[in-house]
Amino acid sequence: MSDASSEGDPQLFDKIVNLCKRRGFVFQSAEIYGGFRSTYDYGPLGSLMLRNVKDAWWRSMVQMRVDVVGLDASILSPPAVWEASGHLKNFSDPLVDCKNCGARHRQDQLADLSICPTCGAKDSFTEARQFNLMFKTYAGPVVESAAEVYLRPETAQGMFINFANVLNTSRKKPPFGIAQVGKSFRNEITPGNFVFRTREFEQMELEFFVPPDQAQQWYEYWCSERLQWYTGLGIPEHMLRLRPHDADELSHYSSGTSDVEFLFPWGWGELEGIANRGDYDLTQHMTHSGAELTYFDQETNARYVPHVIEPAAGATRTMMAFLLAAYDEEEVRGEKRTVLRLHWRIAPYKIAVLPLSKNDRLTPTAREVLSIVQPQWMCDYDETQAIGRRYRRQDEIGTPYCITVDFDTLDDRAVTVRERDSMTQDRVPIDGLTAYLSAKLT
Ligand code: ATP
Repeated sequence: MSDASSEGDPQLFDKIVNLCKRRGFVFQSAEIYGGFRSTYDYGPLGSLMLRNVKDAWWRSMVQMRVDVVGLDASILSPPAVWEASGHLKNFSDPLVDCKNCGARHRQDQLADLSICPTCGAKDSFTEARQFNLMFKTYAGPVVESAAEVYLRPETAQGMFINFANVLNTSRKKPPFGIAQVGKSFRNEITPGNFVFRTREFEQMELEFFVPPDQAQQWYEYWCSERLQWYTGLGIPEHMLRLRPHDADELSHYSSGTSDVEFLFPWGWGELEGIANRGDYDLTQHMTHSGAELTYFDQETNARYVPHVIEPAAGATRTMMAFLLAAYDEEEVRGEKRTVLRLHWRIAPYKIAVLPLSKNDRLTPTAREVLSIVQPQWMCDYDETQAIGRRYRRQDEIGTPYCITVDFDTLDDRAVTVRERDSMTQDRVPIDGLTAYLSAKLT
């Protein structure tokens, strides 16, 4: 990816928001009703890209390992879960209101504790109140406290409360992990920066259960592994850093937490937290539920509560980081070209099939080519407008390869394959197309 991206361009954020709307990555939710603040809908391209981010995570965390299994737990859960996890008591942010303009702020995010960033008033804040971030609703027809349920604010608890189920059914033993991807909900006081902080978002979390004496070594392993995941998918190293938490930032049960941070246009921001959580979670659920959440090691004849290493990432926030890192503009033969230099695994479409022009003689062969590549790769098909403009449209959404069917194709049964970043073109026989592309897109 280009080094020209991100911090060099103060307008980058606006360009990405604009591109997302114009090309169908992300729409403001309920736009025709004036928009529902801080919630977003992922359009034709965004839904593909977000899925690719989650699939790339799942592939690396579950598919390519023998020590991690998957889970898809429910979003609604009873208060007992959140009582045990500590969320009912502690999952809150300090909230202050400005008495001058009414704006609401998270006290811990204020640069100056006495000045309102909205109106500039001095010493206008109310006392801080703790505001619980969980969304509460009611199960069934009667709105009463016995029917209270919560929308999960993280996916992690689903893994902890299913620890024994997974242990008993999967033939895994520590060190092993449970991975989950799914929606989480937080009633954030200050959502913003597009999809960076929203009230409904998607997470990708792993709970990795280890013998207590191996916790530190697995914590270090996951810190390095997770950082490499982002660079392996094309985010330049200078836009990423691993920031260990200071002692005063750590939760009381954590003996170590590091954040993977990305250089957003407004500065460093968290993509993922990796925490050494000790035996806190399983012990809490064991105490509150009475269930046995220990592991008996037959080799050592010892029973113990596994310790947990948790890499917890945001899928929607990470998708935004991929877009920011990939965005590039360059001049090609006197014309501006916008290109998303996305890793092919993340790009919405891997291939676009483009007949040279909309012509009855070309269409059948172009359709035939599409039918050859479509079963394996997500493809776009576009036959209107000049070919140069169609290349630019694909560059702008990050499509790594364009296949052009021209009149020579009808004679030589070969097509032109154009590569997005270098714009080089290869002539490839239709019969060899799958092998040619497989070498690049696997
Ligand atoms: P922050 O400090 O930004 O509020 P956090 O430390 O509370 O985040 P975690 O609880 O560690 O976040 O959640 C893990 C990941 O989930 C975060 O690194 C982020 O990528 C994602 N995430 C958390 N809250 C949100 C949100 N409101 N919108 C989008 N993604 C989020």
